[in-house]
Amino acid sequence: MDREDALACFRERFVIDDQDLIYLDGNSLGRQPKRAADLVSVAAEQQWAKRLVTGWPDSWYTLPQRLGAKIAGLIGAREDEVIVADSTSVNFFKLAHAALMARPGGSAILTDRDNFPSDVYLLQGLLEVAPGHRLRIAETEGATGESNQVLAGKINADTALVTVSHTAFKSGFVYDMTAITEAAHRHGALVLWDLSHSVGAMPVDLEAAGADMAVGCTYKYLNGGPGSPAFLYVRRELQAQLTSPIWGWFGQRAPFDFSLEYEPAPGIRRFMAGTPPILSMVAIEAGVDLLLEAGMERIRAKSVCQTEYLIALWREFLQPLGISLNSPTESAKRGSHVSFGHPDGLRIDKALIEQMNVIPDFRFPDNIRYGIAPLYTTYREIWEGVARLKQVVEEKLYERYSSEKPEVT
Ligand SMILES: *Cc1c(COP(=O)(O)O)cnc(C)c1O
Repeated sequence: MDREDALACFRERFVIDDQDLIYLDGNSLGRQPKRAADLVSVAAEQQWAKRLVTGWPDSWYTLPQRLGAKIAGLIGAREDEVIVADSTSVNFFKLAHAALMARPGGSAILTDRDNFPSDVYLLQGLLEVAPGHRLRIAETEGATGESNQVLAGKINADTALVTVSHTAFKSGFVYDMTAITEAAHRHGALVLWDLSHSVGAMPVDLEAAGADMAVGCTYKYLNGGPGSPAFLYVRRELQAQLTSPIWGWFGQRAPFDFSLEYEPAPGIRRFMAGTPPILSMVAIEAGVDLLLEAGMERIRAKSVCQTEYLIALWREFLQPLGISLNSPTESAKRGSHVSFGHPDGLRIDKALIEQMNVIPDFRFPDNIRYGIAPLYTTYREIWEGVARLKQVVEEKLYERYSSEKPEVT
């Protein structure tokens, strides 16, 4: 399968030091594109070192919009609808707040319990500064594949904002973006999608779905590097109606007028706050360009083929050992990672990392996540990842590791 894979050639565009390392955590931190280090070094050694502050007008000032326009090509947005700024968490807060202010009618924010906790914390914090609103959390269970009906059933005339992760970080369940957006719009609510676990792993078509707002991170399937800044999307027609709660000068109409009156920039730039982190922002372009070159349709086709292969191997070798499948079985409802469940999941994860040269990750309470990044994950790695997991469980190699939770997993 690796020999017949049309995308196999992209693997060598990434830094891969240890061919024996089975890296299955590209959904948490993508591998480093070779060109990323070159871009950082140009920014540091050519621009910063030599051009100094003139780097701003020369190259840096328009970078958030230039990168946003490229990311737009991955998510079915128009070029002026996406900008790179801040972290996903901060962008999420800005847009959720803006949505509530624009929808004074409804009082409820609806999310689901499969959402990424940071988003839920941000909504809890939002209630502190937007009194009169309530948070409702739909009782979804991603692995069953039924979340669309559960969530849509909770949307009503009182709903101001619906916000969920497009792909759930534990189960890998993928929402039907068009159906949920339509259901929300029927009741006059806005929708904010978190694309962190979707972008770069599958085609997203925000425009076709009629989506209002979205956020997403760039260090997972976009391979932007640890802590690389995030992006946000606001549909062109909505931009003038929404205002960021953080009135920084980079979101001002003319920051270099240094006027003391805040007036938001007319377009997507109004959602910026302060000076962007250029050194980590420049690295994002390398991974985004690789994804654009490969094409999201081909990437998704390979991802589906690879997750199907992984699940077939699970059925043959892992299920008989008592490992469950915590992801939907239907590929149309699944993103690019697969979660396996085992009561000793954390200890198994530790054994894989420390003894077997496999890097998955672990998500409480029992999820061992195998993330597939089609630009560099090979079929051989999937086979090896399963064979080594099988060995850990069969030979009970995990028993020598403690079940104590490390600070970071
Ligand atoms: C990874 C991830 C984030 C990360 O947020 P940061 O602010 O970058 O830490 C947010 N939401 C989802 C759904 C994620 O998967």
